[in-house]
Amino acid sequence: MAEKIKLGFLLLGGCAGCEMSVVDLSEKLVDTLEHVEIAFWAPTVADVKYDDLENMEDNAIDVAFIDGMIRLDEHVHMAKIMRKKAKILIAYGVCSALGGTAGLGSLHDKEELFEKAFKNTPTTDNPDGVYPQPECLVDGKYDLTLPKYQDKVRLLGQVVDVDYNIGGCPPHYSHVEAAITALVTGQLPPKGSYITNGKAVCDVCERNPVNKEGDNRTMMYRVLRTVDGVPENDTCLLLQGYVCFGPMTQGDCGASCLHVNTPCRGCGGPLPGVEDYGAQAISSIGSILKDETVTAQLKEKYPNLSKFFYRYSLPSGILPKKM
Ligand code: SF4
Ligand code: SF4
Ligand code: SF4
Repeated sequence: MAEKIKLGFLLLGGCAGCEMSVVDLSEKLVDTLEHVEIAFWAPTVADVKYDDLENMEDNAIDVAFIDGMIRLDEHVHMAKIMRKKAKILIAYGVCSALGGTAGLGSLHDKEELFEKAFKNTPTTDNPDGVYPQPECLVDGKYDLTLPKYQDKVRLLGQVVDVDYNIGGCPPHYSHVEAAITALVTGQLPPKGSYITNGKAVCDVCERNPVNKEGDNRTMMYRVLRTVDGVPENDTCLLLQGYVCFGPMTQGDCGASCLHVNTPCRGCGGPLPGVEDYGAQAISSIGSILKDETVTAQLKEKYPNLSKFFYRYSLPSGILPKKM
């Protein structure tokens, strides 16, 4: 039997939902384990220490998956160590590949974020505004430290060399299966690419009029939010007036959100060849708004358009860096 592929998983600034997608493989995980072994999985599964990774031989892991964005100096440190230990490094999930929803934090400064998170939430009682400090002396003798908070969110590829990206928040389990199959069989795309089937969400969406009847798309004659009413089942959401990012998003999820009558919000990441997902979304949606009245409706319904269009990808965008 061929030697098993050694996998590593490392969670940085994320919620571990990406790693739950591996567990979602369910009974297929049993088949997968015939081909792979888990060499490292922290901190979600095993409570290991920095040393456990640092002391591994370089290239001891065949394929490492890192999920979560980069916000702390600890994230940078661990990403660099994992880079040395892994032959192939994958930015796993949209936080790691593009910055994710947490990347929107880069639109605010640290003081604003700390005040919101540690003082002004309805359930926080902190009238003196005591915030986490990187160093603290407790009882005059216990010197405690916390990882330092960096000014902006970065994606993994802005810190270390990344071999492949996988989109999704989290990646759909069937996509995880396809990615592991590609790794096991060596059928990988060029370095730096997304591991994707290359189809857009619209390509796999049962509501797509082009897929159903060969119709051409038409314009958006109004803008609605899902709180404005219940969208019709089976009809394209864009054509009903709901902003759906299906045309510009990788569809490896199988159009999951559309199955529950919800517009695609773009977690799959950009289609191959697109450098700035948010700019592509602005351009595509902007080009089908019927007239100024509909454009004004969009601004009224979504007052923070940068957060709307760059929901998952702000730190990766070219446009935000120029603003
Ligand atoms: S991509 Fe989504 S599921 Fe994965 S770590 Fe980020 S927030 Fe969690
Ligand atoms: S725009 Fe949305 S609803 Fe319409 S076909 Fe594409 S994914 Fe489906
Ligand atoms: S439909 Fe869009 S937002 Fe929903 S899971 Fe798929 S890529 Fe993500």
